[in-house]
This record gives sequence, structure tokens and C-alpha cells, in this order.
Amino acid sequence: MDTIQIKDKTFKPYINREKIRLAIGEIAARINEELAGKNPLFICVLNGAFVFASDLYREIKIESEITFMRMKSYSGTETTGSVKEIQGLNEDIKDRTVVIVEDIVDTGYTIQHIINELSRRGPKEIRVATLLFKPQALKCDISVDYAALEIPNAFIVGYGLDYDEQGRNLKDIYVITE
Ligand code: IMP
Repeated sequence: MDTIQIKDKTFKPYINREKIRLAIGEIAARINEELAGKNPLFICVLNGAFVFASDLYREIKIESEITFMRMKSYSGTETTGSVKEIQGLNEDIKDRTVVIVEDIVDTGYTIQHIINELSRRGPKEIRVATLLFKPQALKCDISVDYAALEIPNAFIVGYGLDYDEQGRNLKDIYVITE
């Protein structure tokens, strides 16, 4: 695999599709074992997680459901500068086991917002599944239950993740070159 150019940045190959496939298989096996009999509702966070969710969910063998949601950000409100609101989640999650499916947990602020919002709807339990986890970047007190791959602090694209909305269609994951 060669380096690629997306807009003004250059990226080099980082994690190939086979390694991604194996890592997803491992967390799927854990989910199949740990959530059997709970009929979990998988909630795919758009846009970035659509590729991961598609591959993960096809490895899930237990009774379960999947749905999709999006976070809408508002800037310039309150002191936080950004307020996020869930859009598109119509399912009743009261007393259900839900699994949030994210592409990447970086600072953790996004997933924390989602957890806070979902908690208000009375689920039985909330678990987090992410393709990628940057533990060194984490700034929130959240736990990631199923992280397929842990990576150091670096900007990556591919397999659903974008740079300025480009690169989501790459089958492998690429890292930015300095
Ligand atoms: P967090 O709120 O800092 O955890 O960031 C979560 C969101 O930032 C992800 O859902 C991605 O959309 C984006 N993000 C974080 N790191 C990367 C990266 O390395 N490449 C592409 N998007 C990223």
C-alpha cells in the first residue's frame, strides 16, 4: 500500500483490513458471550461508525437489534461552546441494554454526551463499543467496554473515518504523516 493524499494532507498505511477484521471478530465474540439473552439494542453513531457497525453487527449471533442516531452540535451556546443533541433515535430504550457503536473515542467528550443523553431515557445499562480508542487522549471519566483497536494519539482516516469528509471509503486505516 502506498501513501495517499487527501486535500492538503498526506497519509500512510497504518492498520490493514485483515487486522481490522480480526479485531472486530474478537470484540464480537465477547459481546456474543456477555450480552446473550439481553436482546441488546446496538446504536450506531453516524456518520463515522457506519462501516464498523456494518461489519460488527454481522458478527453478532445473539438476539439483538440495531438502530442509528446522529449527534447534532450547536456552537456558541452556554459556556461550554458546544451543546449536542441526539437526532433520529425513535426507539424506546427504557429498561433495555444498549450498545453505543462509535468509530473512535478520542477525548471522550462525544461519547460522554451520548451516554448522558441516553441515560435520561432510562436504559437498563449502556455499553460502549468502538473500533478505535486513543487512551492517551481521553479526558473524560468514561469506560469503553469493547475497543477493537487501541492506538496512540495520531490522526487517522479510512474505514468510515474522515478528514474533512473525505476518506471514509478507504478499506484500510491510514495515519497522517508529519
Ligand atoms: P472525541 O469526542 O474527542 O472522543 O472525538 C470523537 C469524534 O472525533 C469521533 O467520532 C470522530 O468523528 C472524531 N475523531 C477523533 N479522532 C479522529 C481521527 O483520528 N480521525 C478522524 N476523526 C477523528
